[in-house]
Amino acid sequence: MKIIMLGAPGAGKGTQAKMIAAKYGVPHISTGDIFRANIKNGTELGAKAKEYMDKGLLVPDELVVDLVIDRFKEPDCQNGYVLDGFPRTIPQAEALDKALSAIGESIDYAINVEVPDENIVRRMSGRRACVGCGATYHIVYNPTKVEGKCDTCGADLILRDDDKPETVLNRLKVYHEQTQPLINYYEKKGVMKEVDGTVDMNDVFAAITKILGE
Ligand code: ADP
Ligand code: AMP
Repeated sequence: MKIIMLGAPGAGKGTQAKMIAAKYGVPHISTGDIFRANIKNGTELGAKAKEYMDKGLLVPDELVVDLVIDRFKEPDCQNGYVLDGFPRTIPQAEALDKALSAIGESIDYAINVEVPDENIVRRMSGRRACVGCGATYHIVYNPTKVEGKCDTCGADLILRDDDKPETVLNRLKVYHEQTQPLINYYEKKGVMKEVDGTVDMNDVFAAITKILGE
């Protein structure tokens, strides 16, 4: 099962992708998480990516595509994967199609998690990420048991640099210009599915399992 999560930054793609990964036994591949791990580990890729991420811009396609295609070669991808944050541009989607069709494969579902712009800033200013394991919470919609500490590993929670309101507005603009056209792209391929992302996260997941099957 090969799934792409689409939607604005903060729509809940990561939240749903983790739930899909757990239920259907496929890996969750988040390009944002891969870049953040590289930044944390001080790699050259991390340093390059950070320049763009901090401004709310997309990392150039040539730094993203090979990274993802190489990830597919790992043994855990044999039964598919759920892609979160990739593709984000038409050239990335075309590169993904080309790589898949070369091995006789294709994307099964592109799931668009729909959340209007006016909800996004509230979502992202309340988002907290664990510095230890990368788990994501929300101070109102998905709080931890102990304030500021991860439920899973106990490490500290932080507000991501790119979740500050001025960067969020830029990321939304970039989303509308460069990523939203992918909805039409996957509609034409007949794999596009839409879910309402404004409802409780468990209800969003129920809508997704209806699409993917129990
Ligand atoms: P994305 O991966 O699309 O950027 P996240 O999954 O990180 O988005 O979600 C953004 C923020 O919104 C997080 O703080 C998350 O806990 C919260 N969130 C996710 N889904 C919902 C929902 N259905 N209702 C309310 N808050 C949500
Ligand atoms: P995310 O965690 O998905 O919100 O991604 C955080 C940031 O990483 C984005 O705002 C981009 O700067 C960068 N990024 C993640 N995935 C991609 C991608 N597929 N293409 C370009 N930039 C990306």
